[in-house]
Amino acid sequence: MSGPADRLNRVWINPRAGYERSVRRMMARPREAARLRTPRAGLIMREHTDDRWFKTEQRATLGRSLAERLARTAGILSRATGAGSGTNVPGRILERLSPQYVADRAATLQDGVVVVSGTNGKTTTASMIRDILGRQGYTVVSNQSGGNLGAGIASALLAAPSSASIGVFEVDEAALPHMIPMLRPKVLVLTNVFRDQLDRFGEPERVVELLREAESLLPPGARVVANVDDSAMWEAVADADPIGFGVVLPANNFRPSPKAGPGPTSQATAASEPETCPACAGQLTVLRRAVANLGSFECDRCGWDSAWPDYRAVVRASGGLSGTIFELRGILVTLPVGGIHNVYDAAAAVAAADVLGIPPVRSIAALEYFEPRFGRAEVLEVDGRPVWLALIKNPAGAGMVIEEVASDPTIRVAVISVSDRPADGRDISWIWDTDFEWLVARGIALIPSGRRAADVAVRLKYAGAASMPALADPVAAVRAAQACDPGGAMVAVLATYTAMLDVRSALARGRVARVVDHPVAFTEPAQ
Ligand SMILES: [Zn+2]
Repeated sequence: MSGPADRLNRVWINPRAGYERSVRRMMARPREAARLRTPRAGLIMREHTDDRWFKTEQRATLGRSLAERLARTAGILSRATGAGSGTNVPGRILERLSPQYVADRAATLQDGVVVVSGTNGKTTTASMIRDILGRQGYTVVSNQSGGNLGAGIASALLAAPSSASIGVFEVDEAALPHMIPMLRPKVLVLTNVFRDQLDRFGEPERVVELLREAESLLPPGARVVANVDDSAMWEAVADADPIGFGVVLPANNFRPSPKAGPGPTSQATAASEPETCPACAGQLTVLRRAVANLGSFECDRCGWDSAWPDYRAVVRASGGLSGTIFELRGILVTLPVGGIHNVYDAAAAVAAADVLGIPPVRSIAALEYFEPRFGRAEVLEVDGRPVWLALIKNPAGAGMVIEEVASDPTIRVAVISVSDRPADGRDISWIWDTDFEWLVARGIALIPSGRRAADVAVRLKYAGAASMPALADPVAAVRAAQACDPGGAMVAVLATYTAMLDVRSALARGRVARVVDHPVAFTEPAQ
């Protein structure tokens, strides 16, 4: 690469030191501060020509400032011309013009950085941590609306207010080893490793290796918060002395999945990964299973067993799609979102906040006001009736959502919307490993939708579902679902990432949807 970006990079000698010195000078000399804040290309301050360092740092500041301006302008242009949402464009430009930008800007966050990674639950866990920190008065910078690769993080840092003192970033597993040295997090939260987007990542073992590599790159003093119930992932980072979290369900809360056979799911369901000992690769015995490959295990061959979690969430009652009550550190928590996966995310968030010095009792108080974000169990209202939206992208994650839907007796119909754009994963073969049978067994009518509605229809036919027309158009599918259940109950929409985008934008365009608060009615689990 040559040109202005290259020149800027070459003069960028120790940018962090340069930045700090510039700030100190700004504080000390107001007139120079004004010049530094409004640098012009080619400007050389003559009164300082004998000061070699000052010239260097002047150019370094100019370089970063120029890159920031170019990136901001490009973002505005991108939005104005409709070329894109503009969310990641500034970040992409910064990555080219100023590769040190993320490292440099992240280092100015005096309360540090939290990084969240893993297959499922990144967005929700990061949202929860952000909410907890926000309620303690921190100004948090996070990539909530952008991508979870380098460009999304650079964009978030560019847009952050100068008052931001702490960063919470969800980072794609594949990008993690690259991003850790730049972000130098105080806390690395690892949610789980499921089979996800096989065309991108290959097998879960490869992802576990990525996480292990990322852990080895952490700065001294950083702490790892990891899911104890994910035995392979936990063992991969065990050297880092991780802080563990896990979830315990009431004894009889397991669903008798038609695929897994009757009774508690003590054996692997279709959505589970094969359980092999992380130490000797022998067969593990299941002591307790929460969901998919998560649970407590022991190895008869070598004696390996699951660690005891420092943050152990014990589920006490389920409110279907609307909430869960669980106990954590002796405190009863009412989480206003349903599903076991959200309990995992909450336990992870409380553990991460504790590392940052926020006591669990305060984190829990914040979580009781938690509002789900995009595609994570939102409730919209369509034609005056509630529509519950949840993201699905792999068998394990979809299994958790299905469990949530099946546990809510008011749900009579669901839309299954699957698309195959790159953000969804081109390979949709995972729908064949997903336990739609459980919804069929519960008598829930299923409407195929999305770009691959026809494939979904075939899958649902094999699951034994009553035949329904495949409706690629999301609004048509939601309306058909409502027509199926004229009683006026909530309709569930399970959608892949871009299918979810289509649902939301179509509903918003037609002005038929609004986000509503949904009342929570808790039921005790069957004992
Ligand atoms: Zn073993």
